Amino acid sequence: MMYAKVIVGLNNPAMDKMFDYAVPEDMEIRQGVRVIVPFGRRNAKTEGYVISLSEETEVPADKIKRILEVLDEGKPTFTPELLELAKWMQERYFCTLNQCLQAMMPAGIRTKSQWTVSLLDFEEEIRLTPKEKLLVEFIGERKNVPLDDIQAEFSGNILDFLRKMEEKGLLEIKQQLHRSDYKKEKRLLSLDLEHPLLEAAWRKAEKDKRLEGQRLILEYLRNGEEVTAEELKEKFGITDSPIRTLLGKGILKERKQTELRDVFDAEDFEQTTAFLPTEEQAAALDAIRLEMEKEEKRPVLLHGVTGSGKTEIYMQLIDDVIKKGQQAIILVPEIALTPLILERFISRFGDKVSVTHSRLSMGERVDQWKKARDGEISVMIGPRSALFMPFQNVGVIIMDESHENSYVSDITPKYDTKDVAAAAAKLYDALFLMGTATPDLVSYHRAKEGEYLLLELKERTGGGRLPEVFVTDLRKELAEGNRSAFGRELQEAIRETLQKGEQTMLFLNRRGYATFVSCRSCGEAMKCPECDITYTYHAKEHALVCHYCGRRVDVPQTCPQCGSKYIRYFGTGTQKIEEEARKLFPEARILRMDLDTTMTKHSHEKILETFGKGEADILIGTQMIAKGHDFPNVTLVGIMAADLSLNVDSYTAAETGFRLMTQAAGRAGRRDDRGRVFIQTYQPEHYAVKHAANQDYHGFFAEEILMRQMMGHPPFSSFFSILVTGEEKAEAEAASQRLAAEIARADGEGIAMILGPVPAALPRFRGEYRYQLIVKAAEEDALRELVLPVVEKLKKDRKSNVKYQLSLNPANIV
Ligand code: ADP
Ligand code: ZN
Ligand code: ZN
Repeated sequence: MMYAKVIVGLNNPAMDKMFDYAVPEDMEIRQGVRVIVPFGRRNAKTEGYVISLSEETEVPADKIKRILEVLDEGKPTFTPELLELAKWMQERYFCTLNQCLQAMMPAGIRTKSQWTVSLLDFEEEIRLTPKEKLLVEFIGERKNVPLDDIQAEFSGNILDFLRKMEEKGLLEIKQQLHRSDYKKEKRLLSLDLEHPLLEAAWRKAEKDKRLEGQRLILEYLRNGEEVTAEELKEKFGITDSPIRTLLGKGILKERKQTELRDVFDAEDFEQTTAFLPTEEQAAALDAIRLEMEKEEKRPVLLHGVTGSGKTEIYMQLIDDVIKKGQQAIILVPEIALTPLILERFISRFGDKVSVTHSRLSMGERVDQWKKARDGEISVMIGPRSALFMPFQNVGVIIMDESHENSYVSDITPKYDTKDVAAAAAKLYDALFLMGTATPDLVSYHRAKEGEYLLLELKERTGGGRLPEVFVTDLRKELAEGNRSAFGRELQEAIRETLQKGEQTMLFLNRRGYATFVSCRSCGEAMKCPECDITYTYHAKEHALVCHYCGRRVDVPQTCPQCGSKYIRYFGTGTQKIEEEARKLFPEARILRMDLDTTMTKHSHEKILETFGKGEADILIGTQMIAKGHDFPNVTLVGIMAADLSLNVDSYTAAETGFRLMTQAAGRAGRRDDRGRVFIQTYQPEHYAVKHAANQDYHGFFAEEILMRQMMGHPPFSSFFSILVTGEEKAEAEAASQRLAAEIARADGEGIAMILGPVPAALPRFRGEYRYQLIVKAAEEDALRELVLPVVEKLKKDRKSNVKYQLSLNPANIV
């Protein structure tokens, strides 16, 4: 007898352990498959995941249950490496193994279970209690009423109550399973060549002109070919009718065949071949290949400006890997996954590559995943979930634009894709390569310390020149009477660009609801003196709040630095800029792209397409504009208010600001002409502005890393931001205080600094009260060991309805 150790797909931490099940004799089970097992007292059919197989079990023979069904035709969802990786994630992110496994599966394939209730015919005389009466009335004549509907109508533990009613024979509780395999089936038609009526039908069709359709089908399929009805109709221009007639007689037979959907047609793409690497590229490729040969491979950080040929390096490495019979995973931030990027990979690798992203249908996504599982492709491109493709033998994992925040999962398990990819690469014995024009500070620091192999590309492959950057001091503009959002130099430059028939992009970086307050005379943003982090303005209380330590002060009447009365609330939107631009440049064709104008599907693409075709002169947008797009006719870029990103309420503010400025600048004049960039700011002396103006990452890094060290921000410390939420205000608040107290008590050695709890930046959200606590320590591991067990303990408190969400070193505290 074989036994399987199974994790059940239930979101209950208490059930997150292996359960043994017997494998029926006639069932073939492999490690990593999804199965349906009976679970719990009522043997509810439950999806489970086979972690391992064994010939022994400690469960007594009369107690052990049997696996009911294997899903996915017995093909494993989890390779041995993915199972290991899930265990690694479980330990690192302190969540359940089930959560990790489910995070790895394509969204939507999970078997869903629904419980429903129907009344039985019972004797009228049975005396019902008042509550039973209410239930009977609620269900009434309806069959299979979802348990959830009943639960929503009646409070308390209605399930136990219903079970008692079921025991009395009043009603029936049933479980329905919805298997979602998103199979696309093709129906293949062929002739039943043995059919007794075949001869007669043939002769009849040959004589009767009206049966021409049937004759064509019979003739076409006489050698046993299989075709779809669509193919027949298209080929002969016939209707459904002859097909239906022949099917009805049984002369035509039908066979269903599943097919995997394609998301592009490789034939539409012109094949490209590898470029001869430039000297810089060749040196980087050599170093990477050398690292690949090593037993202990370090992750590689490839730092190179946009256009320096990183993507070409990725492709040449992928080519190596494919030749070895291995597979490659390319991670791309969702917003950067544009047709242009895809085109380059498809043109090089044809149908060896596939892609997964949120704009595909569920069926399309599941099918691409199946292609990876079944060995039909060698390269998968996609956002962070592409890391979990069930490939057999991954040779390289590439993470493009590795600085992007979207690589950190915002749902449990809140993993950092960088760390998981590094762990996965170890398990596969693969190379992990990160590429970016502006590495995140922490990664660059790690690379400098030797934890990563650092490789730099300094030149653009085409020799394209970097743009000329000008800094406009908005304080001076104000002092000289210009109250417009457009500095005078930028206005002039826009007019010139319009005249030359070239294009302009204007960036305005604004982050959601968060606003800040600054002085328009000296440019100072109001900051928390303890944390050196910009205060967030809370309009309702007219107060400034530090999102780290919770300090709260009134908005000053005059600037604490210079005494000026020009205190300004930042929150200028793209819409206001657009209005002003229309007044200043009435002849220009202007497009605006921000969250408001891109709510509908594809509108984002459409705006960019219009602009790309030269049907507009000016594009105004937030930082979402134009990642991965190439607009050769853009020769002018304006960064409307650099302060908006420099003053976000985060320790990464300067880093984010620097990145957005350099990225925006990189849009100008990528080909022949030297483009111009205007950075408008109230803080022209800010080091992020100065280094962005020189496109000098190293200069910026040197200054920023000192700043981080001085303030004790990551990478010189780590912190957990813990969000405690609950529907009851008092309960949530008390729980957050208890959490702080218990962490303080557990911290015998005093390694941690505890900030808060304070009401969160969004103190109420979706009916919940939110409190936030920050716990900071020098060493990440020690911090984990301190905080996570305490949170685990509190989570297990069954009487409490409070939830705890943790994130490590988040850039945004919400
Ligand atoms: P990045 O990914 O760093 O932005 P790309 O790989 O996209 O850079 O390269 C920029 C441009 O230069 C692309 O159009 C690419 O086709 C071209 N390119 C890359 N490497 C070479 C090379 N060795 N020789 C000629 N052109 C190249
Ligand atoms: Zn001032
Ligand atoms: Zn503070």
